[in-house]
Amino acid sequence: VKAVALVHHPVVDQTGAEVTTALTNLDLHDIARSCRTYGIDRYFIVHPVPAQREMVERIVQHWHTDPRHEFRREALDLVQTVATLEDAIAACPGGKVVTTTARRTPGAISFATARALPDVLLVLGTGFGLADAVMTRADHVLAPIVGPTPYNHLSVRSACAILLDRLYGIDESALPLQDP
Ligand code: SAM
Repeated sequence: VKAVALVHHPVVDQTGAEVTTALTNLDLHDIARSCRTYGIDRYFIVHPVPAQREMVERIVQHWHTDPRHEFRREALDLVQTVATLEDAIAACPGGKVVTTTARRTPGAISFATARALPDVLLVLGTGFGLADAVMTRADHVLAPIVGPTPYNHLSVRSACAILLDRLYGIDESALPLQDP
């Protein structure tokens, strides 16, 4: 199983305190589309507040009603709400829990190593990032995405798209051309 979890708790705020963040509609849609593109089986929205999980389910249901939104619906069909990260982990038996961060972390695995893992639950943070309890719970911490500048604080949506491309992307230009 290939899965992505977007964690709203436990994450930290700018002071390092553990908090719960509110759902972001953009994260729901944009990450679902990235997941659909890269062959992810399940996109878990991890939120401890039942009303926030119900809102996710309502949004997904909303996009089911209009046949003109087939691409969006196909992506949102991957969404599953869970109360805790442990619930997401339990739904991915055998999958390695791989956490993500913009920080350089000792022992972090490379993208090449992560690419070779058959089953992965890729864990993304909101707020100011995943709490230490999540980082230490992981089977692996993934190396950060970096560019040529010291700044690498990506939005979780952008980070997810880049991570999925590095883990599951293929080089289309290297494929044989098909006759039309
Ligand atoms: N509030 C921000 C937003 O609206 O997108 C979220 C910031 S949150 C800390 C960003 C999450 O994206 C991190 O927890 C991590 O999962 C991922 N992320 C951001 N920058 C990254 C990087 N350079 N390398 C790897 N993951 C990164």
